[in-house]
Amino acid sequence: MNSSHFDNDESFIKNRVVLILSGGLDSTTLLYRLLREKKEIYCLTFRYGQKHVKEVQFAAKNCEKFNLPHKIISLEKITKAGIFGANALTSETKIPHGEYDDESMMDTVVPNRNMIMLSLALAYAISIRAESVYYGAHSGDHAIYPDCRPEFVSVMQQVAKLCHYWPIKLEVPYLNISKADIVKEGLELNVDYSLTWTCYQGGELACGQCGSCDERLKAFAANNAVDPLSYEVIKKGEY
Ligand SMILES: [Zn+2]
Repeated sequence: MNSSHFDNDESFIKNRVVLILSGGLDSTTLLYRLLREKKEIYCLTFRYGQKHVKEVQFAAKNCEKFNLPHKIISLEKITKAGIFGANALTSETKIPHGEYDDESMMDTVVPNRNMIMLSLALAYAISIRAESVYYGAHSGDHAIYPDCRPEFVSVMQQVAKLCHYWPIKLEVPYLNISKADIVKEGLELNVDYSLTWTCYQGGELACGQCGSCDERLKAFAANNAVDPLSYEVIKKGEY
């Protein structure tokens, strides 16, 4: 290894970051936080065979709005090859109704999705000399999604330090806070939540019945705020 790899002029560019932007509420709030921090943001959105592209479209709209470089990466061939099995997000399996931490929501786990996305985001960070990769996993994800757990993130942070000649930071600022706390931050940052999509279904309106909608609606209710998205059904008195 050539020692010049460690010279400043060959290492990362300060403040340049890669953001995994799904188009959902969490990563869009994170986008606004990074804008406030005046980061130079490069956004990556993954298509992994979701049943709909609404989230991806909202991610693109936000990047256009702020004039940010945006790459949409298709993992759909991997999905079609059967690598992700028959989970509810990428196959014919029906999206379960209910609460976000219900056991039925395990059907929505796309195996090892985050490690795959992080791995590609780190590769991109290396290629553009970004100092950090950001992603928006939060505490409510832990119960159901194994690759959102703090233990997983902590090991991936070590990997990020070692996968290139200079260490890359993996930043997961919402890891230990709830979706309600994320909405609280987003309201302070004036996030336009009408340009985010959380529902697992891709209908004209959000369904209001899947675990993801349920969690989002509860997060707004916890802040005494109204979600600007329209819903097909909202269970009366619940939010
Ligand atoms: Zn829904």
